[in-house]
Amino acid sequence: MDKLYFGSNLKMYKTVRETVDFLTQMEALTKDIDRSGMELFILPSFTALDAAAKAVDPAYIRLGAQNMCWEEQGQFTGEISPLMLRELGLDLVMAGHSERRHVFGETDMEENRKVLSAVSHGMTALLCIGETAEDKRFSVSREVLRRQLKIGLFGVVQEDVSRIRVAYEPVWSIGTQGTPAEPAYVEEMHAEIQRCLEELFGEMAGEIPVLYGGSVNPQNAESLITLPSVDGLYVGRAAWQAENFNLLIRQAMQAAGKA
Ligand code: PEP
Repeated sequence: MDKLYFGSNLKMYKTVRETVDFLTQMEALTKDIDRSGMELFILPSFTALDAAAKAVDPAYIRLGAQNMCWEEQGQFTGEISPLMLRELGLDLVMAGHSERRHVFGETDMEENRKVLSAVSHGMTALLCIGETAEDKRFSVSREVLRRQLKIGLFGVVQEDVSRIRVAYEPVWSIGTQGTPAEPAYVEEMHAEIQRCLEELFGEMAGEIPVLYGGSVNPQNAESLITLPSVDGLYVGRAAWQAENFNLLIRQAMQAAGKA
């Protein structure tokens, strides 16, 4: 893939002011990096999306939402619809983050409805997949990833493949309790994901960026981004301070020969 992707989900950490400050810094710090070779995307909290969209230049930072309801409107208290996100000019939405699946109990079928709704509203869907520590212990990681892909992307037609991206985030590797995954293991899982995407979409599968996420930090970013099947890094904690994220991106781009 010609482009590298660097993204961060801000989860429920930054206020509106903090989000705007972070984005403004990220834009200034990374402005000189040629966007034909990389995409930087950030997913703020819902409350900050409007201010964020006014604060950043989309040529430098693509904004997206952390979640979305599949319906356009209706009796869905507490939910945000694709039309509401489009109203803010957003065209990127995540589905299936491990916290949505494991804290809020979302199913593969629900992630699928979100993915289909996103693409039918002209948005890019970032589907997160990943096995738990238990899945890994019982050696069913591959089966779990295949199931999440096959159900999560069910019904996506060839014409919409360019609106799909995938983030592989092993649940045991994410967040404060997470342990970084070994690069060899990441490559094995990414290769499996690639095979599954090829089964689903044929050669169009090559258009789907597959990112790795889970305890990415300045120490392991280089060894992860240089893996043959990794198209980008999806970074949590190590990205939420603008200088750190900027350095991590530059380090990774250099290691990948894109600087
Ligand atoms: C995440 O939660 O998606 C994530 C990648 O977090 P972290 O980098 O902090 O492990």
